Amino acid sequence: MEVACLDLEGVLVPEVWIGVAEKTGIDALRATTRDVPDYDALMRQRLKILEENDLGIKLIREVIGSMEPLAGAPEFLTWLRTEFQVVILSDTFYEFAEPLMRKLDWPTLLCHRLEIADDGRIADYRLCIKGHKREAVRAIKGLNFSVIAVGDSYNDTAMLAEADHGILFRAPENVIAEFPQFPQATTFDQLKSRFEAASSRF
Ligand SMILES: [Mg+2]
Repeated sequence: MEVACLDLEGVLVPEVWIGVAEKTGIDALRATTRDVPDYDALMRQRLKILEENDLGIKLIREVIGSMEPLAGAPEFLTWLRTEFQVVILSDTFYEFAEPLMRKLDWPTLLCHRLEIADDGRIADYRLCIKGHKREAVRAIKGLNFSVIAVGDSYNDTAMLAEADHGILFRAPENVIAEFPQFPQATTFDQLKSRFEAASSRF
């Protein structure tokens, strides 16, 4: 039996923080794990900027609610779910992801949580555990499933390495150069072909 584990941002939906930066006009929110590899430092920086600009969860959810999945992503996910059990492993937060999950027809999502104060301020964040993408793949493999994993960036490479098959999707050149062991795809048709090649079912 095979399970497909997908990253969310950059694979099925746009980078949420870049979308928030664009819609609010706050350039400092554009930084991602590609720029600041230390996730905790990056999140502290983001929460500080939100606080300084008096941006609470309500406004951020409105911004995210106006975002759309990547073109072709809902159709790809629908196909994938007919062929595999699918789990999305993401470094986003349930409080952010909900509007986009609705547009993807509510796939299974394992991600982190925010702490929201009574006034709507984002007070803190809670990781489910550190390195949850890799640990989730390891746990699924422990149930005797094999795993095909897809991601686009540095925070996915441990998950891709742990999986039976790891695939880079629309990864930046530096990630592709640093991790040449992973096959890559840039269109959803190519990604579908990669799954068909990796899976014993086709
Ligand atoms: Mg990503």
